Amino acid sequence: HLRNNDHAPAGAAVGLQSNAEGSGLDAKLQVVDENQRFTTALDEHMKGWKLADAGFNYDVVAVFGSQSTGKSTLLNRLFGTKFDVMSESERRQTTKGIWMSKGQDMPVLVMDVEGTDGRERGEDQDFERKSALFSMAVAEVLLVNIWEHQVGLYQGANMGLLKTVFEVNLGLFLAAKQKGKARGDSQDKTLLLFVIRDHIGATPLANLRATLTADLNRLWDGLSKPEGLESSKIDDFFDLDFVTLPHKLLQPELFEAQVVELRQRFNKSNVQGAAASSSSSVFQSKYHKRIPADGISTYMGTIWDAVVSNKDLDLPTQQELLAQFRCGELAAAAFSTFAALVSAFPPAPPAGQLDSTLGSRMLDAKQAALVAYDTAASRYHPAVYARQRAELVAKVHSALAPLFATQLKSAHKGLLRAYRVEIEDALKGDGYDFARVVAEARARAERTFEEEAKRVTLEESGWSAEEERAALGEDMDSVAELLRKEETRKMVAVIERNIKRQMAETVELALDSPSADMWDKVLSAFKAALAKAEEAYVRKATSFNCTKDEVDAALSLLRRRAWLALRSKLDEQTAEAALLNKLRLVFEDKFRYDADGVPRVWKPEDDIDTIFRKAKDSVLELIPLYAHIKPSDDKNAFELASSASSSSLVDPAASAADDEFDFADSLQLLTPQAQASLSARFRRETDAYYTEAKRSMVSSTSQ
Ligand code: GDP
Ligand code: MG
Repeated sequence: HLRNNDHAPAGAAVGLQSNAEGSGLDAKLQVVDENQRFTTALDEHMKGWKLADAGFNYDVVAVFGSQSTGKSTLLNRLFGTKFDVMSESERRQTTKGIWMSKGQDMPVLVMDVEGTDGRERGEDQDFERKSALFSMAVAEVLLVNIWEHQVGLYQGANMGLLKTVFEVNLGLFLAAKQKGKARGDSQDKTLLLFVIRDHIGATPLANLRATLTADLNRLWDGLSKPEGLESSKIDDFFDLDFVTLPHKLLQPELFEAQVVELRQRFNKSNVQGAAASSSSSVFQSKYHKRIPADGISTYMGTIWDAVVSNKDLDLPTQQELLAQFRCGELAAAAFSTFAALVSAFPPAPPAGQLDSTLGSRMLDAKQAALVAYDTAASRYHPAVYARQRAELVAKVHSALAPLFATQLKSAHKGLLRAYRVEIEDALKGDGYDFARVVAEARARAERTFEEEAKRVTLEESGWSAEEERAALGEDMDSVAELLRKEETRKMVAVIERNIKRQMAETVELALDSPSADMWDKVLSAFKAALAKAEEAYVRKATSFNCTKDEVDAALSLLRRRAWLALRSKLDEQTAEAALLNKLRLVFEDKFRYDADGVPRVWKPEDDIDTIFRKAKDSVLELIPLYAHIKPSDDKNAFELASSASSSSLVDPAASAADDEFDFADSLQLLTPQAQASLSARFRRETDAYYTEAKRSMVSSTSQ
């Protein structure tokens, strides 16, 4: 597993270690200490060195060589670093471990290895081996520092050191190969740059190079190589290069000049800027270990841990693990960036009110997360990067999904309300076409819903507005249905009221002056009014998209209602008191007035009895006429189906009241009992007229 420097104690992330004269950027860091522990402060230093965001735009160089061969001195000259140099007067031992620093004005991580010279002191070569392994794993260029006079001394300490480097490298290659991840091409190569110190000049570089190359090949041939690599060459794993430097103390000016020259080869921009041959630059992309700068601290720490615990180390696997770890970290950081943006969203408006900027805010938050992730994570193992990205996207989408759902619900609610209001407003006017009003309102609502849904649907989210759209459609259907029923009911009520009003006068007039064709007048007027009402209804109903059944049901209800309205008017007119009053007026007309309508003054010769009986009988004959609605001419008859039809289609409340309706019964206004009672009362009243007439005649006679 990988080290996680994030969990280091706060105090461990110390500031930059500076030596007396150094500024922050000159600071060096002891990445591996005397106790072989890896630092927790590398991340901090990478930031301080302004390399944390460098991506692949940095290089790593390490130095190897016997103790006190001027390695630290060379690094300080080449890179402007401040590594400890053994004092010439005191010969004091410098602090053991691996040190790291950033090259001055160049994005280069420089590693200086300080160890006990195990070989010379007879100590074990453990640390040498570990630091070699570590350096091979992370550095592109290994500087191998040797004295000129050591060249050709095949048994010297340097050869032992190089043997270690070779062995370690073969081990790394083998481990990668066993994982099936070794590329075996130039991409796996490391540059060994031999710096031959205290070069006197007597032996030219070419000769030194030849001698060293021969020695190296001899060394390589003598290695016991793993299976399958028996015939491999040094060149398969390393590029070799050689430079000389004059004696620092004896030829200080020359030394300085050649160091400056050598320095140019480590300065990429310089090499390119000067249009120098790119091959003269030591940092070539094929040597780069492809560890993004933001992951270098985790990577190095993990490598060192594996090295220290003598675990099998295969770099491709380590790089994949690093990719997983870093991409995970980057995804988490990206998600919290995203979460912070989302939590800063303004509160959602009340349901039914749309949040017009939600879609763009969601998209912005998602983009911010992806940009944050992609910038750094895209440099890691492509498959790992892509997998973690997909997870991040899924997480972002599921975090936003509730907002999407809420927005759609709100749109649903708001649009349904607007839809209803729009229809209701249109219904207030005259001459509307219900079907068209509904269709237009619906189209508008659907269009707006579509737009809103599109606005908040993020790409690749897989979100669907289908369910909400369908629910809205259903709701609009039921609202339209409700409004249609309500409208129909209102219309029927209006028509009913109109008939009632129109009929009131006709009925009163006809019943006040009873005649044989009294019912013909009433019924023909009623039928005319009803026909007009039906026509008015049918005209409206077509715009309601009503089915034929619905129209028939409404018409049947309308007819019944109209009939019942007529009936109730007739009931009112034929109630006992009212009818008695009518009969009295007719009787008075016949008894108290003569044929010319002049009030009678009874004289002794008048035959009161006959006149009285005739008037009374003719009125009594009217009672059966009032009792039944029956026209004299059959063409004026009115028929109505007796069974209760499915008027509930139009008005469910009305149907119950109308259920017990029987048309034939409804033609009878007065039961025989009512007729008898009426005629009895009428007789009693007319008796009083008779008595009064007699009395008035007597008094006129006596005058
Ligand atoms: P390191 O142990 O390899 O890092 O060596 P240092 O850089 O600490 O130097 C060890 C000693 O060698 C110091 O006293 C330096 O002054 C001296 N020294 C440095 N460079 C040279 C050089 O080019 N030639 C010689 N002869 N001595 C050098
Ligand atoms: Mg040193």
